[in-house]
Amino acid sequence: MSLVVQKFGGTSVGSLERIQNVARRVKKTREAGHSVIVVVSAMSGETDRLIGLGKSIAESRRPRARELDVLVASGEQVSAALLAIALNDMGVPARSMLGFQAKIRTDEAHTKARIKSIDGEALRKAAEDEVIVVAGFQGADERGNITTLGRGGSDTSAVAVAAAVKADVCEIYTDVDGVYTTDPNVVPTARKIDRISYEEMLELASLGAKVLQIRSVGLGMKYGIPIHVRSSFSDAEGTVVTREDELLESVVVAGVAADKKTVKVTMRHLKDRPGVVAKVFGALAEANVVVDMIIQNVSLEGHTDLTFTVSSEDADRARDIANALAAELEVADVILDDDVVKVSIVGVGMRNHAGIAARMFQLLADEGINIEAISTSEIKTSCLIRAKYAELAVRVLHEGFIG
Ligand code: ADP
Ligand code: ASP
Ligand code: MG
Repeated sequence: MSLVVQKFGGTSVGSLERIQNVARRVKKTREAGHSVIVVVSAMSGETDRLIGLGKSIAESRRPRARELDVLVASGEQVSAALLAIALNDMGVPARSMLGFQAKIRTDEAHTKARIKSIDGEALRKAAEDEVIVVAGFQGADERGNITTLGRGGSDTSAVAVAAAVKADVCEIYTDVDGVYTTDPNVVPTARKIDRISYEEMLELASLGAKVLQIRSVGLGMKYGIPIHVRSSFSDAEGTVVTREDELLESVVVAGVAADKKTVKVTMRHLKDRPGVVAKVFGALAEANVVVDMIIQNVSLEGHTDLTFTVSSEDADRARDIANALAAELEVADVILDDDVVKVSIVGVGMRNHAGIAARMFQLLADEGINIEAISTSEIKTSCLIRAKYAELAVRVLHEGFIG
C-alpha cells in the first residue's frame, strides 16, 4: 500500500459535478488500496472574485494583507468541505482540514507566506483511516494568523504535504494533460513532455508556465518527490517531473514560456555613487520584493538610469520603495511600465550548446520585435519585449527551437 497526495486545481473543482468527479477518482485510488491525502484549490474564479471584493470595499484599493488572507483563504475552505461531503456521501470516510488544522505553519509574509513546517506524522496517521482533504493555499503563522502562499499556492501545499508525510508520489490534477513545450492554450502545436527535470521545470514555472507554482517545484527537488502533472478529465499519463539523471535524453530547448505578470520599473536620473544600488535593492529585499532583470545605464555627470523588473503583484510595493528613496538618491522620477512581457527559452541542453541565445535574438529580430532587457542563466535565456508581441514571440521561438 502506498500513500498518494492528489492535488486538484480550480477548474477540476469548478462545479459541483466536477467535485463529484474528483470524489469518484479519489474513491478509485482508495479502492485500489492506497492511502490518499487530497489538497484542493478554490473553485475556479473564486480567488479572483474574493480579491476583487477586498479591493472594492477599500477606497485605497489596497486592503491590508492580513485581512486579504482571511478573505481569500475562505475559497479553499469551501471546496475542501464540499469534497469531503461528496466523498462521505459515496461511502468513503473523509475529513476536511484547514491549513491550521493540518498544522501547516508558515512565516508571517501575508499573501506570499512560506511554509516552515507541517506535522507530517499526524497527517500520515490520520490518512490511514480516512481520506484527508486539506485546504490548499493556506497556513497559519506562529501567532495563529491565517496566511496564504501566493497565487497558485495549492501546488506548493500539495508538494509540501507530500514531503512531510513521505508520500510515494504527488499527483497534480489540472485542466491540461501534462506539462507542454509551451502553453497549449496559446500554441496549438505545443507537445506534451513525458519527463522533465526539476531544474527545467523550475525555470519554466518561474518564467510564466503557471501549470506549477515555482515553489512547489523547488520543494519537490529538495525532497526528491516525483511530481506527476496530469488531467483530472482523463486517465492519460501526464508529465513526470524528476531528477535530471532519470531523463532518457536532454534536449537543447525543452520549453518556451511567456510571463505577462512582469512590470518594468525605471528610476530616472539616480545618483551614481557606491552603495546606491545596494540601498535600492536592499530596501526591495527587505520588503520581500523579488527583482528579476536589472539594467543600469552608463553614468552621465554623476547620474544614471536604473531599470529593473518585478512581478506585477509587487509593482505597488516596488513603486512605494523607489519613491521613498527618491529624495535621498536625487531621483528625477519613477516610471512603471506594465506593457511588457518576458519571453524565455529553457533547456538543460543549453549548458553545452553555444549560440542558442544569439539564435533567439535573431528569431525575434526577424519579426521586428525589439528586445528591451535580457537575462540569462545556465539553462535559460529571457528577453523583455512589448506585451503586444507576446504570442507572436512564443510562436516563433517554439517553431524555431522545437518545431
Ligand atoms: P489549476 O487551476 O489546475 O491550478 P492553472 O490554471 O494554475 O491550473 O494551470 C494550468 C494552466 O497552465 C493550463 O490551462 C495552461 O493554460 C497553462 N500553462 C502555461 N504554460 C504551460 C505549459 N508549458 N504546459 C502546460 N500548461 C501550461
Ligand atoms: N486558489 C489559489 C489561486 O487561485 C491557489 C491555487 O489555486 O493554487 O491562486
Ligand atoms: Mg494553478
